[in-house]
Amino acid sequence: MEQMSDEVTQEEVEELDLLLKTLFPITRSLTGEGNRETLRILQGVAPIEISEYPSGTSVYDWTIPAEWTINDAYIKDASGERIVDFRESNLQVVSYSTPVDAKMNFSSLRPHLHLIQDKGNIIPYRTSYYTQDWGFCVTPAQYDQIEKSEVELEVKIESEFKENGSMTVAELCVPGESAEEFLVSTYFCHPSMANDNLSGLLVTAFLARGILGDVKPKKTWRFVFVPETIGAIAYLHQNQDRMTNVSGGLVVATCGGPGPMGYKETFLGNHNVDKAIRIAFKEASIDPLRYPFVPDGSDERQYSSPGFRIPVASITKDKYYEYPQYHTSRDNLDFVSGAQIAESLSVYRHVLKILDGNGTYKSTSPFCEPQLGKRGLYPNVGGGINQLGTGPLPNVDSMMWVLFLADGEHDLISMAERSGIEFSQIESAVEKLKEVGLLAQANP
Ligand code: ZN
Repeated sequence: MEQMSDEVTQEEVEELDLLLKTLFPITRSLTGEGNRETLRILQGVAPIEISEYPSGTSVYDWTIPAEWTINDAYIKDASGERIVDFRESNLQVVSYSTPVDAKMNFSSLRPHLHLIQDKGNIIPYRTSYYTQDWGFCVTPAQYDQIEKSEVELEVKIESEFKENGSMTVAELCVPGESAEEFLVSTYFCHPSMANDNLSGLLVTAFLARGILGDVKPKKTWRFVFVPETIGAIAYLHQNQDRMTNVSGGLVVATCGGPGPMGYKETFLGNHNVDKAIRIAFKEASIDPLRYPFVPDGSDERQYSSPGFRIPVASITKDKYYEYPQYHTSRDNLDFVSGAQIAESLSVYRHVLKILDGNGTYKSTSPFCEPQLGKRGLYPNVGGGINQLGTGPLPNVDSMMWVLFLADGEHDLISMAERSGIEFSQIESAVEKLKEVGLLAQANP
């Protein structure tokens, strides 16, 4: 873990771009073959384990829905020409639409048409997961064409609901030296849109691969891939006992846009997850937009609910709700790139490193300061440490800070905050002082 760099290599950026292209066209929803295909592609990045939760299962106050499949959908004019065509864009059909096969005029079709006026050639993204309904999402031009049609139109949605189907989820648990556990969760239920939600999926898969590096992590890390809301609820239901012990987490979503980076706080606002994020941004010289916790947004709503209370934050780059392309066909590969995702990935990697490396230590020599010189940790010439021409000695500074704060009350994160010294410097000072026996792990 310590050997893992935050830097995202050019090779990784190219890999991200290729994965964006591969994943973008797939039709995803709460359930279905497109979800399985998406997860199988991500298995090429990290060895995530895929499992199936049967449709109809009760999970807390919810029920896992029937598995939805869609083969084709269109609105055809009298000449047989497709005005609206699912094969052109999977956003054209409301997700979870019931099957339709009818001839209709505009006025009966009208309540089933969704559009965004005056914004140009845009298809909105709509779902009807928990109400049986059907619909088409259309551009203003398509809408006009349908409205002008003087004859009945052929309306078809070839969809299917499998009551004996299932909902697909995936996870990867990487055990660390300690049982203290952190969660990284993302969702994969959106069809062809890039920032929401391919960016989150890719960052999470790359983080999982990073944690699996050569060095065993200090903490246990759980990576979770679920359909938003119902997937997180079902996963929590399935793993209730373990999940109540999770220390903190991140929900990775909308982090690949061209806009500024942001950060949504945990419900506590000052948990170590928040602190690690602030340190990571500061060390990257990024001043993020700050979003205080509110109980809407993504799956933090489930993870942080009263029964679990896992403090969960998000790092974003064009946060959901905030960018005009959100939940439309414009959230595409012109809007999102591997290089933009890499910026978020780098900050996320830093956050994971800080959380993983954190710990609390006690000085074994707490009465007055221990003598560093006789342990070879201090320059031989006493006196002008930072005034001589030898340059600054940050390791001494960091060792002084660590020893000063090693009272069993301050963890590494608070040492970095209090001293303003980079987290990695604090970490290496701790390593050095442990080596010479001046520090011992405080009761974990
Ligand atoms: Zn969304």
